[in-house]
Amino acid sequence: MTVSALIVAAGRGRRAVLAGSSGGAADSAQEEMPKQYRPIGGAPMLVHAIRAFGEHPGVDQVLVVIHEGDQARYDEIAQGLSPKLLPAVVGGSQRQDSVRSGLEALAVSPPDQVLIHDAARPFVDSALIQRVIDSLKTTMGALPCLPVTDTLKRSKNGIVTDTVDRTGLWRAQTPQGFRFQDILDAHRAAAGLSMNFTDDASIAEWYGLPVAQVEGSEANQKVTTNEDFILAEARLTGAAHLDGLRVGSGYDVHRFGEGDALVLGGVSIPHDKALSGHSDADVVLHALTDALLGAIGDGDIGAHFPPTDQQWAGADSSVFVKDAVRRVKDRGGCILNADVTILCEAPKIGPHRDAMRGRIAELLGVDTGRIGVKATTQEGLGAIGRGEGIAAMATVSVNLQRS
Ligand code: MG
Repeated sequence: MTVSALIVAAGRGRRAVLAGSSGGAADSAQEEMPKQYRPIGGAPMLVHAIRAFGEHPGVDQVLVVIHEGDQARYDEIAQGLSPKLLPAVVGGSQRQDSVRSGLEALAVSPPDQVLIHDAARPFVDSALIQRVIDSLKTTMGALPCLPVTDTLKRSKNGIVTDTVDRTGLWRAQTPQGFRFQDILDAHRAAAGLSMNFTDDASIAEWYGLPVAQVEGSEANQKVTTNEDFILAEARLTGAAHLDGLRVGSGYDVHRFGEGDALVLGGVSIPHDKALSGHSDADVVLHALTDALLGAIGDGDIGAHFPPTDQQWAGADSSVFVKDAVRRVKDRGGCILNADVTILCEAPKIGPHRDAMRGRIAELLGVDTGRIGVKATTQEGLGAIGRGEGIAAMATVSVNLQRS
């Protein structure tokens, strides 16, 4: 039993370059790149499909049908890719013509079965390929299908006319598997007819070959539009998700002065000293403010609230945090979490930890579970260790929307 994979990569789809194109210099450079050769996760889309079949133990040879203008491009990417790879064949103007060219090339030394696959489905996996091969043991044609889950509408001139009953409807994928001689005969019979077949199963159906359903794969989506490429890239590298991620850090220290309470993390704590400073000297909220500003690269607390400005004398430091949160939101940002470490010998932080977490969560507009408050002593070392003041460090992560 020999199995050949036939990958169709001869199309000149313009959807990926037209959708969302702003017509800049970068776009025109991209426009010259057919989508099969556009990189996803560091490799051209076509390479992912070739690898999937080349690495499958049940596939003996892989043949790619290319556009006549892509020979040099193809040779470059195909170099050393798989020992199963045959020299490429040039396709025709319609998908059907391209598949037939591939089948005729394989017919010189015909395999028992052929799996016909679109290069625009780079996420075909080994399990799906195996399901198609297994199905061909008992059927003449095998078609990967997924159920239609969206409600289907028919419309005319932008107005919905009715709802289509989706019972018995399926979404067809590739690879579509056939006994080689059958599908070659069907394609030869269909050649020259103006039937506009969009896949090989429809040619098999037209020719009277029974085609069995095989379970498709949600991951095996077609990559067609620019948005598809962005999602595909995100899936392979995680880059799109991480692109909006920002982390900021902040640090502050205030010395002790006379008093009977101090404010930490927005919570008033009775103590035999107070923290001295221009505002209420809440080191935790000051460090947190700097972390928020740092995450969006927007200066620091001193730049926005100068200590020389009398209006901030004795101010509740939540004002500073709220202002920084507004700045994050103005940039389309969403705060993911914040973590604070307080450095002091006294007072004990533990009894006030949850109150601080609650207040900080309230100021940042997030769940308390996203706020960490920890404390450590300095083992008597340095100014903090001698009990001369309190320091705080804060880290904040922010998700900015992709621009
Ligand atoms: Mg300060």
